[in-house]
Amino acid sequence: MIGAPRLVDVLVIGAGQAGLAAGYHLRRAQADFVILDAQSQSGGAWRHAWPSLRLFSPARYSSLPGRMMPPSRSGDYPDAADAVAYLTDYERRYDLPVIRPVTVHNVRRGDACLRVETDAGIWRARIVISATGTWWRPYVPYYPGIGDFTGRQLHTADYRGPEAFCGKNAVIVGGGNSAAQILAEISTVARATTWVTRRTPRLLPDEVDGKALFDLATRRHHAALAGESATGISDLGDIVAVPAVRQARDRGALKAEPMFSRITPHGVAWSDGAELACDVIVWCTGFRPALGHLAPLRLRGPEGVIPTTGTRALGEPRLHLLGYGDWTGPASATLIGAGRTARDTVAEVMKQVSEVSDG
Ligand code: FAD
Repeated sequence: MIGAPRLVDVLVIGAGQAGLAAGYHLRRAQADFVILDAQSQSGGAWRHAWPSLRLFSPARYSSLPGRMMPPSRSGDYPDAADAVAYLTDYERRYDLPVIRPVTVHNVRRGDACLRVETDAGIWRARIVISATGTWWRPYVPYYPGIGDFTGRQLHTADYRGPEAFCGKNAVIVGGGNSAAQILAEISTVARATTWVTRRTPRLLPDEVDGKALFDLATRRHHAALAGESATGISDLGDIVAVPAVRQARDRGALKAEPMFSRITPHGVAWSDGAELACDVIVWCTGFRPALGHLAPLRLRGPEGVIPTTGTRALGEPRLHLLGYGDWTGPASATLIGAGRTARDTVAEVMKQVSEVSDG
């Protein structure tokens, strides 16, 4: 679309699970809306995940509003391809107006609307819902010597499977689900693996999966609203014991060492003087929200996130942020949690749109 800016009531940036969940509720509300997505194919970040990644909940608890994810062909826990197939079908089934590939470069304040600048022209929108996820901003912490390492370094986002690690001496960094799953499979082929974490990793009990975590997040959310305290997910543990992780635990491959303090040309070193030679360092150290397109609005707070009330940006009420993590709704960065936040967001957005139209 090149030419005169097009006006819509609601413009959603990103057609991953968060953007699609918003689309579902916008469709039901009969909103005038469009969804722009930078990728040429559907599926959001799941399309880039390593093929053997297992979701931490069974399919029926990994679903967006309106439609259950079908049972996985690969076992109780769906894989990344299952998630892509599900989102692709979801987008079609609800006939969601996704335009792709369109990259949003900047969102700016206009007079009555927000101005959305893209590589396919300009849109004007009364409300923008940003749902661009985190996958696009892998995070690697700085350690002295990081630039001098002569082996290979990669981040979770670059990991494609264990084959490249055959016979290697690998160091896996990070105490979360990605680290545990990647370590579980690398340890079956590598010459040696060393797992390093900042604090002792904690496996959840075998019966706790993503559904149980979502229930806990919900209880905690309601308790917080009522001014009470409740058990949090982190009180239980961090890592879901999907089958591959259980097997690795049972064969003793999940023993963690403290974090190293520096990187040498040929390995890593701890502050007590111990050193370890390695061929490869795998950084399973997470992601940051992809918010660069919102920079012109100058909304970022001191922690790098945008302060919100619910999902609405405090500094720009015409902007909502969806799906980035608990700061944009409890469990909102999961398949099962995205729907509830999207429902509440769209209810608020529709109220805002009608106020603008009446005004
Ligand atoms: P994305 O899926 O990243 O979608 C964002 C979309 O926005 C993309 O299509 C992208 O192209 C587009 N976009 C980005 N920037 C722009 C721009 N400037 N202009 C236009 N379009 C743009 N969740 C679970 O529920 N269960 C799990 O088991 C689970 N396991 C996970 C394992 C890993 C390793 C990771 C990293 C995450 C996992 N998650 C899991 C979390 C979560 O479900 C994903 O992170 C999810 O992909 C987030 O969805 P999203 O829609 O917010 O973002």
